[in-house]
Amino acid sequence: MAGLKLVCLECAQTNRVPEDRLAAGAKCGTCGAALVPDRPIEVDSATLAKAARTDDLPLIVDFWAPWCGPCRMMAPEFGKAAAGLQGRARLVKLNTQDHQDAGSKYAIRGIPTLVGFAGGRERARQSGAMPAAQIEAFAAQVR
Ligand SMILES: [Zn+2]
Repeated sequence: MAGLKLVCLECAQTNRVPEDRLAAGAKCGTCGAALVPDRPIEVDSATLAKAARTDDLPLIVDFWAPWCGPCRMMAPEFGKAAAGLQGRARLVKLNTQDHQDAGSKYAIRGIPTLVGFAGGRERARQSGAMPAAQIEAFAAQVR
C-alpha cells in the first residue's frame, strides 16, 4: 500500500496518507483528527514513542513544562513554525511535568529542548528558546 505512515497524534492509530493529500486535510480513519495539523499537538509519552518510531514525516518535539518561562515564550513561535512547516514536518509538544517518564527516556536535561525524529531515530536536538525561523531551520536538518 502506497502512502506515508503517520501516527494519529490524538488516538495513536497508524494511518496511511497518500503524498498528494498531505496538505489537503487528511484525517485519521479512526477518530477523524487532522493528521497533518497546522499547529502543535500535545502528546503523551506513548503516542510520542509510537510516532517517533513509525512516522514517515519528520517529527519535531518540544519538551516543555508550564513552570518554564522560556518555554512559554517560545510557544507562539513554535506555533508559527508548525504552520510554516505543515506537510513537511509535524510539530508536537510533550509536557515533561505531566509525563516525567518521557523526560528521562529521552534524557532531557533542560527545557525547552527540541528533538527531531525521522526514519525511526533521533536526528537532531537543540536546547533553548528559539524564534520561529530558527525552529524551521532546525526542522529542515531533520531527515
Ligand atoms: Zn485518530
